Amino acid sequence: MASIQRKAIDPKILRFIRDGEAESLSPQEILTWSLKNFQPSIALSCSFGAPEGVAILDMMHRIDPSSRVFVLDTGRIPQATHDLIDRIRERYDKEIEVLAPRAEDVQDLVRTRGMNLFYESIENRQLCCRVRKVEPLKRHLAGLDAWVSGLRREQNVTRANTKKVEIDYIHGGMVKVNPIADWSHEEVLSYVEAHNVPVNRLHAEGYPSVGCEPCSRAVREGEDPRAGRWWWEHPETRECGIHVDEEEGSGI
Ligand code: SF4
Repeated sequence: MASIQRKAIDPKILRFIRDGEAESLSPQEILTWSLKNFQPSIALSCSFGAPEGVAILDMMHRIDPSSRVFVLDTGRIPQATHDLIDRIRERYDKEIEVLAPRAEDVQDLVRTRGMNLFYESIENRQLCCRVRKVEPLKRHLAGLDAWVSGLRREQNVTRANTKKVEIDYIHGGMVKVNPIADWSHEEVLSYVEAHNVPVNRLHAEGYPSVGCEPCSRAVREGEDPRAGRWWWEHPETRECGIHVDEEEGSGI
């Protein structure tokens, strides 16, 4: 995909980001600032496979019911995730933007490398993620000025340096908002319980993080919560390319 030409970020917003002003703010304060500055050109990326995304969806909806949310439907996500998307849609009376990969790209991928190519090599796994997730996301983000994610620093070594508001150079220098970057897993669970936010039913079956069905498994007690995602790889490679630049091998 050709590189995205973006308009320059407002200097006041740039100063706010560079000075790290968001670091002392609560998630709700950060989301209020973000919606004030970017709505309707801002949207939450929610996988509906982890409590982080739906917690933020609830916060954003309380601040502005017209706030936007999208999900990447790779074609391999489980029925439980589809069920949660509809449950949230009904509960909040909210449109969910469902992004799909290009049919011809998926057809090429499985014709040349097979249906379950991801188990064969890291290269194949990253290629599948690129076709089914990274490219559809890039196309969608090209139409936005800012996006919101549920990244948390303690989730993985690749996420340890996540800022609450940062410039996303992978996607052409847009603004990326990570309002719960400093939250613990327990804080996320407390929020969804306190606000009765619907979550993916697979969490109750031992899946703290639900991605595509063939690339997610339940974790054992005491195991790292993300150990069930691409469990056959080393922790350093366990990213789909949405939040890190695979080619550079670094975060943003
Ligand atoms: S998580 Fe697995 S099935 Fe889903 S896009 Fe990545 S490699 Fe493909």
